[in-house]
Amino acid sequence: METVFIGFGSNVGDRVDLCDRAVTLLSLLPHSRLMGVSLLYETEPVRGETDPGDGWFLNGVVQIETDITPQSLLAILQEIERSLGRDEENRSGPRTIDLDILFYGERVIKEPGLTIPHPRLHGRRFVLMPLNELDPLWIHPMLKQSVDQLLREVKDPAQVQLLFPQPSTRYGSRPACSAPPGS
Ligand code: ADP
Ligand code: MG
Repeated sequence: METVFIGFGSNVGDRVDLCDRAVTLLSLLPHSRLMGVSLLYETEPVRGETDPGDGWFLNGVVQIETDITPQSLLAILQEIERSLGRDEENRSGPRTIDLDILFYGERVIKEPGLTIPHPRLHGRRFVLMPLNELDPLWIHPMLKQSVDQLLREVKDPAQVQLLFPQPSTRYGSRPACSAPPGS
């Protein structure tokens, strides 16, 4: 079993419900164990090459242990994205749910269609904050810095705040979240 961190985000529709469904589906993966789920963070949409729309994102991170290969896991995440509905008329626009493999153990993978660690994670406050909640001492296998070091140094200007109040989960059971930062 390897430790894997999966980032999730949603900025359209019932975002809490979509994140909750995604986490629940991830908790049901075969050959896997859900180890932790971050709190939900609310994030200003970032405009890059694509325009995700005006809706603020909800973001979080799930930690699992799994025997599923990285390639199979990516295929499963894409299947979950499809099952949770994508706006067919506006594929590159607002996202019902986006699932990214952030870290897969200490592996470094560069294949067409699959890059691990996720190439943009260290520049994104909305990824580093929930990661830092789950495992601040986790080391980025290429940058050789811990998640909390990366978070202290990130320049991302986008605002990220804890969603308040935190929703209760409606589907399946979630392992206890870690305590909110500062509590
Ligand atoms: P983004 O997540 O950058 O907003 P997409 O979800 O549309 O954009 O990106 C999808 C593509 O990214 C997929 O086709 C997938 O093959 C590729 N990809 C590369 N590395 C990863 C990874 N670590 N996790 C998820 N998708 C990845
Ligand atoms: Mg993605």
